[in-house]
Amino acid sequence: MNGSCVPLEALSEAAFLTDGDFRVVDCNARAVELLRAPSREAVIGRDASDMPNDHDLAAEFPTYLRERLTAVPFVSLENHAARDDGTTFVAEAVLHRLSDGNVLIMVRDVTARVESLHRAEEANERLRAAIRDRMEFVSNVSHELRTPLTSMSYAIGNMLRGICGPLPQKAQDYLGRLQVDVKRLMTTVNDILDLRQMENGTLTLRKSLVPLAHLLAESADALLIQAQAKRQTLTVAPAPKEIYAEADRHKVERVFFNILSNAVKYTPEGGTIHASIRAEGKDALIQVDDNGIGIPPEALPRVSQRYFRVGDQVAGTGLGLSIVREIVELHGGTLTIQSPVPGDDRGTRVAVRLPACPGPEVVVVSGDEALIAALTPPLTDLGLRVRPDREGLDLAKGGQTSAPPARFILDGALPDCCLSELICQIRGDARLAQTPILVLSPFAIDASRRAEYARMRVDLRPWPLPIEELRPLFQA
Ligand code: ADP
Repeated sequence: MNGSCVPLEALSEAAFLTDGDFRVVDCNARAVELLRAPSREAVIGRDASDMPNDHDLAAEFPTYLRERLTAVPFVSLENHAARDDGTTFVAEAVLHRLSDGNVLIMVRDVTARVESLHRAEEANERLRAAIRDRMEFVSNVSHELRTPLTSMSYAIGNMLRGICGPLPQKAQDYLGRLQVDVKRLMTTVNDILDLRQMENGTLTLRKSLVPLAHLLAESADALLIQAQAKRQTLTVAPAPKEIYAEADRHKVERVFFNILSNAVKYTPEGGTIHASIRAEGKDALIQVDDNGIGIPPEALPRVSQRYFRVGDQVAGTGLGLSIVREIVELHGGTLTIQSPVPGDDRGTRVAVRLPACPGPEVVVVSGDEALIAALTPPLTDLGLRVRPDREGLDLAKGGQTSAPPARFILDGALPDCCLSELICQIRGDARLAQTPILVLSPFAIDASRRAEYARMRVDLRPWPLPIEELRPLFQA
């Protein structure tokens, strides 16, 4: 017992009772033991504020503690402290202000805890460094693989398109299978490279106006051979109207390709995969439904986490959906995964919502109302905005009042001199020098004029032109 009626021996920790100046007036046996002091008497009278073995702190320590303890009833601190035998330990101390002005200090030796924390931090750092090194290695290898894979894919594509002449069916089949494998490898390589950029925070989007329905159809096309090999039905609902988004074209292609190839991968032989796109409010909603193996409910919240895979299914990296989610979110969109498909008892629905925006503008220079009327509906269906410039006046005035359009369509029925003048005007304007120009001509055009148009990078087509031939000109 002591003057402040604190039963020190009853306390489970080393306890020191000090006066207001931190001079020890009493302590318990645990405190003597902790300091490896010869006796209790040897501890009494010591300045407790000397105990922390930190010279920087020593001078201001008593003042600091006194000030803190007038503001709050207790103060906790952790510091190195010295024992009588010259060794040190990490002390966790709690100082309590008592009503009589004395201070009760409870001290615990936390050396082991602090050391194991340091060891854990070091191990953690080593692990992080190992992961960084491994990622660095994997992405360097991936980078090396990308170039040859791209040229392989290009060469196979060319051969399949008949650039080397007609190929026997067997050769076409082999090339088709090769193409599938090369594409699969390219997807993995691209996923790894994207992942590295995401982890470094260096993933940047190169945005432009992107036709989403067209890209969805192209991605499905690229997977047709793979789907056919599994006798699957892979369809894309024809979009009533193209929907544009301000997006990174290559990244959006990767999103669609990843989702569709998952659907092909996780749908057994003979299954069906159906993709669709529609406008919903200000967004484009892209959905891919399959009637495949589905995702168990407990795995659903985790499938878009990095490296997560459900069980030991077909080979994969567990990266695809996590990258899809990050890319979609970087575009301000959302990714939703449902299984089974709503209204069905199996399969998976992966839905991507992306903010849509008005499509590119096409200026049609023609005084012919019939031509404008014939062009407007198909171009509008392609998501384009048609701006008729009936006399080419806007252009003649330099077109400075409006934003540069994405394309020009010039009426080939305009007088020759007028047409040439317009083309020169467009090509002479730095903002429009690279803008595609299409001339729709109702007349036959002689060879010299054709050559001149070709020099000016003008696409010349006869008018009227069947809509099916017009579409591809605007879908690129
Ligand atoms: P990977 O396909 O390379 O394993 P993903 O990140 O693309 O990686 O997918 C994560 C997991 O989600 C897959 O391993 C698979 O179990 C599940 N999954 C993704 N898409 C589908 C799908 N359409 N049907 C069933 N399971 C799917």
